[in-house]
Amino acid sequence: MDLGISGKHAVVCAASKGLGKAIASALAEEGVNLFLCARDKATLQVVAEEIESKNGGPVYYQAADLSDKSSRDVLIAEVRRVFKSVDILVHNVGGPKSSTVQETELPDWEKGFQQLFQSIADLNRAFLPAMIEQSWGRVVAITSSSVYEPIPALAISNSIRSAVTSMLKTLSDEVAQYNITVNCVAPGMILTDRTEERLKATVERANCSQETVLTDWTRTIPAGRLGRVDEFASTVAFLCSQRASYITGSTIAVDGGRRRSTY
Ligand code: NAD
Repeated sequence: MDLGISGKHAVVCAASKGLGKAIASALAEEGVNLFLCARDKATLQVVAEEIESKNGGPVYYQAADLSDKSSRDVLIAEVRRVFKSVDILVHNVGGPKSSTVQETELPDWEKGFQQLFQSIADLNRAFLPAMIEQSWGRVVAITSSSVYEPIPALAISNSIRSAVTSMLKTLSDEVAQYNITVNCVAPGMILTDRTEERLKATVERANCSQETVLTDWTRTIPAGRLGRVDEFASTVAFLCSQRASYITGSTIAVDGGRRRSTY
């Protein structure tokens, strides 16, 4: 299926590995011009070169810490310097610190807010006016299955990602008249470096085999396995496409059926 977005300009955040990198690759395959960001410049360069050698380029990138306002400002300025306007904006960032509500201190809440919420608000504010002017745009935010069911000891993620979902639902109402769609995609358990780290930590903590932990995890997934990054990225690419023009204000779960809510 031709997604109808060849030649569009996209910013993909946190694209040096995992879900972000897979989304960047999926969009590149559709002929989208890319601007990537993540914290580490050297890793970004490798990813940009990988995508360029497969799909052509140039692929632009800027090292940026999305939890830091001045770093976000540098990113926004650099994107504006190389792209006349942004058609597709994919919000993604690393997960925040894990803690229970009772353990979480004010600086952790504030950092989590900057990283997960304010980064999205700032980038939207920077790039939406041009989308409105051209009467076309796609905004997709990667959240988490925790927006359906809170995950124990992920207080910051559970709380702030729900606020993000609500902010973006509100925004979707405001911009739908300009052919701009705003959606969230909530991963369940997708195999990335982060998931591997969680697996290792669980194996050490529970002092059992990797197979035992994996069996335990997949027992809660009707599909019977963890998801692949390409499965996740295809969903995001579709939401970024011309074809998905009537999907807005939604959260799509990519979780092999794991969430227990009907919607
Ligand atoms: P990952 O660790 O594989 O990749 C994270 C990416 O974010 C990297 O490119 C990293 O450089 C970048 N990053 C981290 N902090 C950043 C910052 N402050 N500024 C800019 N870039 C930053 O993680 P992933 O598995 O791809 O997960 C991506 C997001 O999805 C995370 O927020 C994670 O919590 C969420 N999530 C993932 C899963 C899953 O199954 N993989 C499930 C639920 C939620």
